Amino acid sequence: MADTSYDIIIIGAGMAGASLGAELAAHRNILLIEREEQPGYHSTGRSAALFSEIYGSKAVRALSRASKAFFENPPEGFAEAPLLNPRGTMFVATPLQAEALDGLKAQPDVAAHTRWISAKEAVSYCPVLKEDALIGALYEDGSADIDVHGLHQGYLKDIRRKGGDIQTGTTVSEIKKQSGNWRVTTGAGCYSAPVVVNAAGAWADEIGTLAGARSIGLKPKRRTAILVAPPPEHNPANWPMVMDIGEEFYFKPDAGHLLVSPCDETETSACDAQAEELDVAIAADRLMTATSINVRRIEHRWAGLRSFVADRTPVAGFDKDAEGFFWLAGQGGYGIQTAPALARFAAGLILTGEPDPALKVFGVIENALKPDRLWANV
Ligand SMILES: Cc1cc2nc3c(=O)[nH]c(=O)nc-3n(C[C@H](O)[C@H](O)[C@H](O)COP(=O)(O)OP(=O)(O)OC[C@H]3O[C@@H](n4cnc5c(N)ncnc54)[C@H](O)[C@@H]3O)c2cc1C
Repeated sequence: MADTSYDIIIIGAGMAGASLGAELAAHRNILLIEREEQPGYHSTGRSAALFSEIYGSKAVRALSRASKAFFENPPEGFAEAPLLNPRGTMFVATPLQAEALDGLKAQPDVAAHTRWISAKEAVSYCPVLKEDALIGALYEDGSADIDVHGLHQGYLKDIRRKGGDIQTGTTVSEIKKQSGNWRVTTGAGCYSAPVVVNAAGAWADEIGTLAGARSIGLKPKRRTAILVAPPPEHNPANWPMVMDIGEEFYFKPDAGHLLVSPCDETETSACDAQAEELDVAIAADRLMTATSINVRRIEHRWAGLRSFVADRTPVAGFDKDAEGFFWLAGQGGYGIQTAPALARFAAGLILTGEPDPALKVFGVIENALKPDRLWANV
């Protein structure tokens, strides 16, 4: 049987593949391939749903800022509810973390989006915090909870509405160059296209290897989250997210519970990550150390993979040695909040060879994202 031909094949229907697919589908004939029956089963469905303009590397922060307008004003009919729900973020510091607090505060774009508050004020926002353990906090007023499901489903719906194809429950097992096109083999059939996008999350280096491309040195790192009940005397609905400035823990309200993470980064192979007992215990312990909360029961636990390259900045661009092979990987812990701008950036490169110039205004620079930067010193 002849292969089905497309202009672009995207591998992976998590947030990265879905957002890029939606940007491309109006202009090209696209196919999005996903191994799981449910796109979003892996990292995309396991996030803490934070939108922060000061979290992550400089390039990540630029992408987040460039994404904000989409979150606030998505296209007509994209989502049934707002994609962002305001929630401040408090980056709290102990006396031992004074230097880290000053370092963060000193970055001009961080300073522009935060205000310094005293330990007393921090406790007024989140009354379970131990005031005498803190020297103060940076408060980001403009951060928010993201409706991750609404965003992801909006992109998938947009792809279908624009005539793109989505194939779920089928694994890409072979990628070969044949007569100038990429031939992608899956359990459901073979497909060919001049352009293949690697949006396979933690599996991106494995997909690269299938295509004969060089490794980007991607390291999947497991992160754990738990849900615990708040103390009965408190209603945490309006508390900010509380993030330890050294990223030892964070917690935030989540549908009547508190979502807590010990901010673990355990290097692992690409897999269906599961929460380990020790990390669950560390999460509860760090929450109890920083607050007056006594954790009696873990209501729910999960883990997911945050996949990073060496500079903890996403990789978006054509591979210079494997013609037509495009990387969209390494989104780490920021792949939801950066998705709108990163998808627009990638679509610009694929459709015109140039990223959308409007992104430059926010500081989104091609050289910081292109895969070649990772091989420059090799
Ligand atoms: C605990 C936790 C908290 C987080 N918190 C936040 C946050 O607050 N804010 C934020 O912005 N980000 C956060 N993140 C990060 C964010 O979730 C990720 O950056 C993002 O989901 C990555 O999306 P992705 O599409 O690249 O990966 P994925 O969602 O993992 O999608 C990749 C897909 O590729 C598919 N695939 C792989 N190999 C194949 C193959 N051979 N054939 C077919 N399909 C294949 C997989 O099945 C998978 O569905 C968090 C992550 C974790 C784990």
